[in-house]
Amino acid sequence: MLESVTKPLKFSRRKPAPTRFAAADYVELTMHFQCNLRCEHCMIEDSMHWLRPESMDRFREVLAQNAAEMRWKGIILTGSEVTLRKDLPELARMARASGFEHVRIQTHGMKLASEDYCRELVEAGIDEYFVSVTAADAATHDAITAVPGAFERTLRGLENLDGFDGVSTLTNTVVTERSYRQLPEVVSRLGHLQRLAQMDFWNFWPMNETDAKGLIASHLDVLPYLREAIVRARALGRTVEVKNFPECLLGEDRDALQNEQPKLVIDPEFWPEFMRNGFHQCVHRSYCSASRCLGLNTAYVRKFGWHADVLVPFAAE
Ligand code: SF4
Repeated sequence: MLESVTKPLKFSRRKPAPTRFAAADYVELTMHFQCNLRCEHCMIEDSMHWLRPESMDRFREVLAQNAAEMRWKGIILTGSEVTLRKDLPELARMARASGFEHVRIQTHGMKLASEDYCRELVEAGIDEYFVSVTAADAATHDAITAVPGAFERTLRGLENLDGFDGVSTLTNTVVTERSYRQLPEVVSRLGHLQRLAQMDFWNFWPMNETDAKGLIASHLDVLPYLREAIVRARALGRTVEVKNFPECLLGEDRDALQNEQPKLVIDPEFWPEFMRNGFHQCVHRSYCSASRCLGLNTAYVRKFGWHADVLVPFAAE
């Protein structure tokens, strides 16, 4: 039951739980802007056709910069679906040769259903796989991604990766009106994976001032499912990262909130689109001492209002 109070919380803010994948240790490059799924929550659905991927010159610049400064331990290759790049293994080899300790890809994991392809990527030096799992069952995942068979292929990909020494897998489940009730079951469905080190739950943001697709779920409805997912994932020894959820609603699980992102190298035209979200809105923002909270966004407030009597500001420390 949610308390309906607005006096400042007396307990202190809690530091984020420790993770071996600290955002500050990574640089992220958008190397590809095409995809063969059509996820309804895709953040760049409308812009991936005109966003420009980073050039090979820019890629080499980042490698050279890090070789000189050793600023980041890991590099993340992303965009839309980077496994569609035929030269992905070569990119990984170049990154490793320049001194990066870790190479990660963000992927929907479909192509990883081939064990031979997994081996090729692992041998090229990709040791971290951030895989999108949108739901706990095939019917829901395939409906969200709009491709029949997507769930089985992604799950097989994660299971294939479980067989390679030195590999870590991470998953992300975007929290939407369609997926939130399945969050605890997503954790349980992936409970057999030995190399799954971290589970992320990114609460959907629409890249727009309105929720045109009807995907934003009420934080109050999501909350019990999200907290149960956190508890289950931690019981399995996973670390958990939650993004874009009010810190004050998470109670004793608020250390799972981690809104930091790696340094992102992307087409500058992305940022005006991103700013349309309008994060950091909250009626208590001016006196709440939460430092990691993104508050509400424009589309959320238009759909559900301010939750002024439910959000509880943190007292100054
Ligand atoms: S800024 Fe608002 S939503 Fe965030 S913790 Fe403070 S009161 Fe809660």
